[in-house]
Amino acid sequence: MLALSLGDDARSLHLVTVQAPEATRPDDVIVRILQSGICGTDRSVLVGKFDARPGVIMGHEAVGIVEGTGDWVTNVKPGDRVVVNPTLFCGECLECRKGRFNHCVNKANNEIGIDRDGTFCEQIVLPAQFVVPVPDEISTDRATLIEPFCCALSNVTAAGVQPGSRVIILGGGPVGALASIAAALSGGQVTLVEASPHRRVLLQGVFDHPDMPTVSILEANRPPESQPRADVVIDTVGNLLETAVSLLAPKGTAVVMGYNSSAEARLLPIDILFGEYRIIGAGDYNYPMFQRAFDTGIRIPLERIITHKFGLSEYKQAFGFLSVNQENAYDALKVVLESRL
Ligand SMILES: [Zn+2]
Ligand SMILES: [Zn+2]
Repeated sequence: MLALSLGDDARSLHLVTVQAPEATRPDDVIVRILQSGICGTDRSVLVGKFDARPGVIMGHEAVGIVEGTGDWVTNVKPGDRVVVNPTLFCGECLECRKGRFNHCVNKANNEIGIDRDGTFCEQIVLPAQFVVPVPDEISTDRATLIEPFCCALSNVTAAGVQPGSRVIILGGGPVGALASIAAALSGGQVTLVEASPHRRVLLQGVFDHPDMPTVSILEANRPPESQPRADVVIDTVGNLLETAVSLLAPKGTAVVMGYNSSAEARLLPIDILFGEYRIIGAGDYNYPMFQRAFDTGIRIPLERIITHKFGLSEYKQAFGFLSVNQENAYDALKVVLESRL
């Protein structure tokens, strides 16, 4: 089968032909991948901000069709549309026994698209509990956004957004857009701040729809000093914690959401004390979030965030839209790779 694997330098992708994986266990499910979204994490790997295992097939935001199942599988059957839960867990370690499956201590070699083969390919085999059936009402494009939407819902929930909360989302990529939707659905008055004029135009188009919640889109160069300070600021970029804290109202919460393993921040503890700020991380999500994302996504046209689609062989073009090279600016929101040439 065709696959996009990470090079030995751990910073480049290559189109390769590999043996399709086969089911070996009674709880295995064979999924034929239809398409996968390119995640900010995939981009972070290629630009050196996040590490993945050389040789791994990347990709984890996938929708596919069940091709076959082992004898024990009861949650899905051949022909079902499914999304992949990319964060495998053992179910037995101390963290799993406490229900903190996303903190499983046996995650090594179990992060799909990072250190276990992922979905930028034609077929994947997974234990049944990590494939989630897609409700009929949800299109394949909308389902492609469900995994990152889980992350957005989880972070907005952790931030404690309430009806009337003033919320600022820093960074208008797909995650920023999804976090804005999640915060607005929780009753927040949401301002989404994005530096790229082109992306701001794309975002206006995304939210200009009767089924989308109201979100104001603001230029990053004019930070919202004129506006009241925010009860919640979510940094979806990953290096804007200082800005996030500077925008907080008393008792406000700043959330670190963007992945950047080299970012540092300088904060004055006394400001945190007097402001009664909360500075939190909310990680990704725990797996029950998939059902919540489907239940919420039935009403919301998440697929409007998809701006481009490419085949696997067009991966250079696809990543080119995500500013992986210096010469390219961000010209896209969600870019999707279809599992075809
Ligand atoms: Zn992701
Ligand atoms: Zn575990």
